[in-house]
Amino acid sequence: MIDITEARHHVLERCPPGAPLVMPVREAEGCVLAEPVVAAESVPPFVNSAIDGYAVQAASLAAGGQMPVDLPVVDEVAAGSCTDRVLGAGEAIRIMTGAPVPAGADAVVMVEDTERLDDGARVRIHREVSAGESIRGVGEDVHAGAALYPAGTVITPAVLGVLASVNVREVTVYPRVRVAVLSTGDELVDDGSPLRPGQIRESNRTMLFAALREAGCEPVDLGIVRDDEAQLEQVLREAVDWCHAVVTSGGVSMGDYDVVRHVLSGMADMRWMQIAIKPAKPFAFGLLTATDGKAVPVFGLPGNPVSSLVSFELLARPALRRMMGHVHLDRPTVLAVASDGLPRKLDGKLHLVRVLATFGPDGRVHVRSVGAQGSHQLAATSMANAIAVVPDGEGIAPNGDVAVMLLSPDAMGGAPWA
Ligand code: AMP
Ligand code: MG
Repeated sequence: MIDITEARHHVLERCPPGAPLVMPVREAEGCVLAEPVVAAESVPPFVNSAIDGYAVQAASLAAGGQMPVDLPVVDEVAAGSCTDRVLGAGEAIRIMTGAPVPAGADAVVMVEDTERLDDGARVRIHREVSAGESIRGVGEDVHAGAALYPAGTVITPAVLGVLASVNVREVTVYPRVRVAVLSTGDELVDDGSPLRPGQIRESNRTMLFAALREAGCEPVDLGIVRDDEAQLEQVLREAVDWCHAVVTSGGVSMGDYDVVRHVLSGMADMRWMQIAIKPAKPFAFGLLTATDGKAVPVFGLPGNPVSSLVSFELLARPALRRMMGHVHLDRPTVLAVASDGLPRKLDGKLHLVRVLATFGPDGRVHVRSVGAQGSHQLAATSMANAIAVVPDGEGIAPNGDVAVMLLSPDAMGGAPWA
């Protein structure tokens, strides 16, 4: 057996980032910038009002030291329009949020501090303002020419918004990895037909397809491949020519109907691993060669559904993220409290215990086992939002510390207004 660190090193080293691609911004959501972005324009592009109200000269209100002050309303300017009128001392111009501040004005009084008089011809102002108040200057958000984002930035929804705001229409990113996913096994059924003796429903492909999508990849479903060497070889040969990676499930453990093993060994420089972890001990990795010579990583995940998922999380997901240019490859990990303890036996393996993580009143993350931990018991694992990493030994005592990988922090609770 090898340890997980060695297995990850072997895999990650062979999964370098792909060749960068220029792509329309809207299509690049979730991708990683391969080149820095410089702001082409300033935001805001012109001096504008932060509120609905009246543009004035602050001095017009301060003059007598007496409030309220009544001013004639000499014009009106809405967002998207302009006025040529230059505001004079003792005048007001009605203005909406986002509208250009007229020349001559140096402040905006918010509408809540005013009263409309004479059907809008005059305004009564109840509060003084200082020069510059409620005015947004050119470039207060982004300055034209400024370095906006370094290479390595993940294009989140907010980043997309900023890119749109400065009129960046194309970006150079690491493309999403197209991943062929297939499952193997003569016992698998996925067409809804009644189960015949010995058959089971196929579940890994559906799960891995979704996991690949969640990881930002473009999964391609290659279906169930029977335990038939010729069929598997043909499917794989086709896949490598139009995919960047292949994920298989099943047939990588010791002493089964080792079709995957036979076929992949003949096609690629494979490493068949026994990793000192539980679940997900068997794992295979290698590089297939496409017709054009490109190397296509193949991740041979074990067939037991929980093992398949854990193997994907620990080995395939970080590698695929690396291929997509990500700097942070792993799930965020925190030191949590094992409220009820996480007992185990010494067996030479690192245990990856599926747990439910929640924020405790002490501000720390608390975890409890979701129950059934068998590698065939996917239902219990499906209730987990984290994986506790329990080192070899007697386990964690109640209220002891344990490192926890957070799979879905959204499900942990702890919002400030909860
Ligand atoms: P294998 O790794 O092919 O020996 O499979 C190990 C166990 O996982 C067996 O009980 C298989 O029936 C089961 N299994 C394999 N592939 C799948 C799959 N795609 N969906 C559900 N169970 C599977
Ligand atoms: Mg099998």
